Amino acid sequence: MAVSSWQRLSQQFLTLLFPPTCAVCKRVGEVLCEDCVRTLPRLPEAVCGRCSRPVKRPFSLCAHCQKRPFPLQTIRATYRYVSPVKELIHKFKYENSFALAEPLGQAMAGAWLGQNVAVTAVIPVPLHPKRYKKRGYNQSMLLAQQLCHYHPLPLMPDALQRVRFTRPQIELGADQRQQNMQQAFAATPHLVCGQHILLIDDVCTTGATLIACAEALLDGGAASVSAYCLARAVSKTQ
Ligand SMILES: [Zn+2]
Ligand SMILES: [Zn+2]
Repeated sequence: MAVSSWQRLSQQFLTLLFPPTCAVCKRVGEVLCEDCVRTLPRLPEAVCGRCSRPVKRPFSLCAHCQKRPFPLQTIRATYRYVSPVKELIHKFKYENSFALAEPLGQAMAGAWLGQNVAVTAVIPVPLHPKRYKKRGYNQSMLLAQQLCHYHPLPLMPDALQRVRFTRPQIELGADQRQQNMQQAFAATPHLVCGQHILLIDDVCTTGATLIACAEALLDGGAASVSAYCLARAVSKTQ
């Protein structure tokens, strides 16, 4: 699930020929410079204690979470899914810019301090093997590796599989997303049984993918499931 050695080698070779430029300000030197990391848009202070949608009082429950049951304990995120985070994630995911995992994962690790979520195992949202083969890396796995590098949390990438090939969520409306994800994941019971799982994903918009993962993990016997994402879409309509 990691970046292939061929991809890493070709990246190192390209770096020798063309020094990296910051994906936001284009300054030469790093794939994402420290100044730009500092100014990326954070989530507002007052977010729903469960799903991180904006609310009036911090950690109160939003209207969505008051209305319906939710299989996750909580969804936390580092950034708001707005420009330039949106473009950065696009590059990271679709333009082979896997080197962005380091600064972005480091930012997630930094913001994880003080989140106060019970965790005994970290699981990245898996890609379907077909999509993994095409992309060559799983962006969520790379972020999870960074988080576990900075915090002593066990990484268990084999505990959850994507068992159904689904259309990319980005092509679908909010209503279709949940349907698209039904039965898409399966957990390995002996690995997840009794564990307090932290799912890692790059983006959370409607939460449909995380909900489907959480349902599979709870079916497999997990004690609880929370999620931590690089970015969260905070539009009130979602
Ligand atoms: Zn920059
Ligand atoms: Zn909520």
